[in-house]
Amino acid sequence: MVTLMATKELLTQLQEGKLLCIEHVNQQLVLIKKENPRINAFLYTAEKEALERARALDGKRKKGKVGKLFGLTVGVKANINVIGMPISCASKTLENYYGTYNADVIEKILAEDGIIIGITNMDEFACGISGETSAFGPTINPTSPKHVPGGSSSGSAAAVAAGLCDVALGSDTGGSIRNPASHCGIVGIKPSYGRVSRYGLIDLSMSLDQIAPCAPDTDGCALLLEVISGYSDNDPMMYPLSVPLFTHFGKQPKTIALSPVFEELCKDKKIYKIVKEKVLDFAKKQKLILKEIDLKYVALAVESYYPIVYTEFFSGTRKYDGRRYGKRIEESCKEEVLRRIIGGRMISCAEYEGRYYRKALRVRRAIQEEFEKAFKEVDVIALPTTPELPHLLRKIPSPEASYAYDAFTIPANLAGICAGVVPAGKIDGVPVGVQLYAGNFKEDVLVTVMKVMEGQ
Ligand code: GLN
Repeated sequence: MVTLMATKELLTQLQEGKLLCIEHVNQQLVLIKKENPRINAFLYTAEKEALERARALDGKRKKGKVGKLFGLTVGVKANINVIGMPISCASKTLENYYGTYNADVIEKILAEDGIIIGITNMDEFACGISGETSAFGPTINPTSPKHVPGGSSSGSAAAVAAGLCDVALGSDTGGSIRNPASHCGIVGIKPSYGRVSRYGLIDLSMSLDQIAPCAPDTDGCALLLEVISGYSDNDPMMYPLSVPLFTHFGKQPKTIALSPVFEELCKDKKIYKIVKEKVLDFAKKQKLILKEIDLKYVALAVESYYPIVYTEFFSGTRKYDGRRYGKRIEESCKEEVLRRIIGGRMISCAEYEGRYYRKALRVRRAIQEEFEKAFKEVDVIALPTTPELPHLLRKIPSPEASYAYDAFTIPANLAGICAGVVPAGKIDGVPVGVQLYAGNFKEDVLVTVMKVMEGQ
């Protein structure tokens, strides 16, 4: 395992020219060649593009001012469009599809001098919790190789954890950046819905999806989030809000809460113990008020999430009919994707009676209101990322068990609030991340707490 350099230190070395971009990219390409055949984090390495850009950036530095991400290499999940790169969603359906435009987030990264180094592996069309539903083989967890790395952004988290790129983009619809960040021992943030433009993201469920950053530390994650955030006319659901500087960490909040519902739902009590101890210690050292908060509708999160995802996914996949691009999805996808398409069609047909989707939306509203109320009383809520440890590779759980695995991450997507994960400890060598929820568009509060918590 390589030791990861702190993002700030790496950035300073690059910006001051102590480490040339070309040297940095070359070193990482060597590491990718050595490690990727085993880890399978990258589906495509952008060797030529990254080297060209590194050379151009080294030239730029000599002439003057450089961008916020100067020289940092970025891995991009295979569901985010980058011109000329294979954006397959880890599916045979889009195996031969190459990005024809740049997603908004890619334009922003390039404008701040980041270097796209490759396209990362994932669960097929972002449906999954382990990376194992990829049509191009599972990703290996570099930190705990017998266990899955988590998903669906398996490749992004594994690439960061193995030092194959400096930061990475994933997407988070129900936990897909937080779950692999926790299992690989890195940091991940799901932004508030509407914080980051979804233009160029191939959607799983458009009312829940957000493009989400991960990095070895909170500094890197907050920096990438700052760069990709901000209003875009291309995404009609964006919140027209100016972006606070996440890297200038704000004032320490006053209250942090735990909730008994998460303790009850946590199947592996050792996980809850690690999280609780971390939070108690944090509250004591930082002199925060520790509260207990009652949340009841979150227990229905999984049951309401899936009807919404099935329905929106079914509708979103109608374009893969084999006529314009890609293959006909029903004939080329794997089991989990097909399950959602068939289920989504059935729910859509039954919907005139309001049997599933409309009911799910009612629960979603109740969860939103529950959090609106909670965040009037507390600044952050702490909980585990997943109720169990990641399963052993190839010991694939049943669909029901996989769905239940996201019980602690899904509530944030349903409510639209922001959430982040930082490492809290290990159980038998497997990393465990503590998850923090903060209110809608309270990313400044979130990253401030994450930064202090990761440091102690
Ligand atoms: N595991 C969840 C699902 O399969 C979440 C996936 C995600 O966040 N993309 O839908």
